[in-house]
Amino acid sequence: MELTSEPRVILRRLHQLMAGKGSAQIRLDKVVKLIAQNMVAEVCSIYLARAGDLLELFATEGLREEAVHVTRMHFAEGLVGLVAERGLPLNLSEAPKHPKFAYRPETGEDIYHSFLGVPILRGGKVLGVLVVQNVAPRRYGEEEVEVLQTTAMVLAEMVASGELVDPNELAEDVFKAGQAITLDGMSLANGVGIGTAVFHDIAVKVEKLVSENADEERVRLEDAIAELRMQLEQMSNDPELSYSREYREVLETYRMFAYDRGWHTKMGEAIQTGLTAEGAVDRVQQENNARLMVSHDPYLRERGQDFENLSMRLIRILQGNMESRRHELVEDSIIFGRTIGPAELLDYDRTRVKAIVLEEGSPTAHLTIVARALEIPLIGRVAGALTHVQEGDNIVVDTETNHVFIRPSEDILETYIDNVAARVELAAEYASERHLPVVTKDDHPISLMMNAGLLVDLPNLDRTGAEGIGLYRTEFQFMVSSTLPRVSEQVKVYNSVLDAAGDRSVVFRTLDVGGDKQVGFLPREEEENPAMGWRAIRIAIDRPALLRYQIRALLLAAAGRELNVMFPMIAEIAELHAVKAIFKKETDRAEATGSGMPKDIKIGCMLEVPSLAWQLDLLMEEVDFVSIGTNDLMQFFFACDRGNPRLSDRYDLLSPAVLSFLKTVIDAGEKAGVSVTLCGEMGAKPLEAMALVGLGLKRLSVSSASIGSVRRTIRSLDLSKLKPFVEANLKSPKHSLRNSLLHFARDHGVVL
Ligand code: PEP
Ligand code: MG
Repeated sequence: MELTSEPRVILRRLHQLMAGKGSAQIRLDKVVKLIAQNMVAEVCSIYLARAGDLLELFATEGLREEAVHVTRMHFAEGLVGLVAERGLPLNLSEAPKHPKFAYRPETGEDIYHSFLGVPILRGGKVLGVLVVQNVAPRRYGEEEVEVLQTTAMVLAEMVASGELVDPNELAEDVFKAGQAITLDGMSLANGVGIGTAVFHDIAVKVEKLVSENADEERVRLEDAIAELRMQLEQMSNDPELSYSREYREVLETYRMFAYDRGWHTKMGEAIQTGLTAEGAVDRVQQENNARLMVSHDPYLRERGQDFENLSMRLIRILQGNMESRRHELVEDSIIFGRTIGPAELLDYDRTRVKAIVLEEGSPTAHLTIVARALEIPLIGRVAGALTHVQEGDNIVVDTETNHVFIRPSEDILETYIDNVAARVELAAEYASERHLPVVTKDDHPISLMMNAGLLVDLPNLDRTGAEGIGLYRTEFQFMVSSTLPRVSEQVKVYNSVLDAAGDRSVVFRTLDVGGDKQVGFLPREEEENPAMGWRAIRIAIDRPALLRYQIRALLLAAAGRELNVMFPMIAEIAELHAVKAIFKKETDRAEATGSGMPKDIKIGCMLEVPSLAWQLDLLMEEVDFVSIGTNDLMQFFFACDRGNPRLSDRYDLLSPAVLSFLKTVIDAGEKAGVSVTLCGEMGAKPLEAMALVGLGLKRLSVSSASIGSVRRTIRSLDLSKLKPFVEANLKSPKHSLRNSLLHFARDHGVVL
């Protein structure tokens, strides 16, 4: 039997039904009858999600009536569960033979052979499943699947509007307006933000889904796509954007999608099924989303987010709603979204964005990198954020505790208001101290440098008065690019960094990708221990072309200037030899081609793997400088995963073992006349910085936000007293010297 469904008819009748009278259940019963009739199906059923990931049969035509509100299953249980879990259609000619088929006697569905289930999706969430079944075994045609998906989409809007089903019966019934609640997430960009909740997606709600005239809708879509492309071109020419390499990378990805024929065609087909242009954009987006978001590959998931952001922009154009979001923000806005693209962040007036809260988000997403650079606090993976918040709610975001306070009590609000005011004041004080020399009270100078990784970080050199860039993480440019950045593109970035630094030195670290820093152009395999896996220099040695191109770019950019390069994750001298040999090939090449050479080249090595500390004498002979990366080093030193929250307080970096280890490295450098820097987060904390200076460390590189406080601490130290104190304590059997160091600081007027 061939279904002779006519989508336009179903959609129109569904809307008429909605406008009609009757209780929610009566209308729902009419809906299933209508769909069954129009699709010539013997069964049509609607399952909706309830709290606790349960799917309940809410209405059926064809199955036994007594099963309604009785048949329930978990997500992933049975065929209906499978559709919900995957968020994708399931089309079977012999449903009872499918391994997931779960027979429910109360439904009497064993006589139906063919099964077509589609998810009822809204905003990326599965609200339920719409199913049609027939007795005869057959596979439903592509067009039939399309029709049912379009119907499911209209149903999703009806369900979400609360008119078709009592919202209290659905999965979202946890929401209780007005109560103060605290949600937890994952800190992605640090800081505290206080303000009013604003929904990122609010402007892109598709109101009108059903169209009368497909030709008109197609013209609207074409016009909107042309407008979208023009906007992307304009954004690329924005002087603010062109300054930032990262934004341009993102725009490139957007452009790629905007000119994609496949996307175009799919939207055209969706319009043919009876949707408006915006309905078609949304439909194709949701399908794509359902496919990409179930992927375990974080890169694919992030491309899915880019695609979603672009689709939302297209819908806004169709709705004539492209007024800059700058006007929509209140003075202090906390933006809530499931996900936000970095270019979307630019649509906002950034001076008004006090924090961002996402239901998704990841440490490697574009937005995270950009939010960090812009110093906008960002918390991700906040489950239920959009369910619990209403626009206009008071919000406090604190990334130190990973809390999002929704409608907080007066006490909490006031505490945080004071806290933020104090931070602002302190930042102004630090700024006024940026010209003060970083020298101890007894005249020992310390080099205080800044870590960077984005072009937007560069103005911080002047703002903080940092001596130079002690660690430039080159991988950021690679992480935001879906293809390997060309040598010429790399040259441009390195050139801008060197130009911005002027006389100040810059240490470029070669690519440190792999582990938690994934890039799109490298194959990836699931690794049991990615931090100890195929990453950084290990990749470079196996795939030397990558490193060679990068070195080529660095040599070109630094022609006539000083070039400092260091290699990450070196575990043994033999590895250092291998990368130095690769480096030499490139310097030979540069000399042979006469492409210009740096005035001076200094080669350094990061100490992040403890094994290297047993070859210190050899190391010092091989390099011009060493940089200690405590972030990685310490997780290997203690065999303690740096991302595991259960272990985060287990070991203290101020333990006698750590400090003794660091002293060995510092002393070896001193003896050999090789400069030693510490560029991990450890150095950014005042008490830790004090201990390190006490060990004899003369160079620190920290994030720009920490320069002011560390400068103050150093200027309050008396090394003649501190050094003997720290050394005398190194043999202590204690878990940590933190308390002793705190006492010392208090007794000696150290500013912490
Ligand atoms: C480190 O490991 O300490 C370091 C500076 O490198 P990253 O944090 O980039 O891994
Ligand atoms: Mg590291």
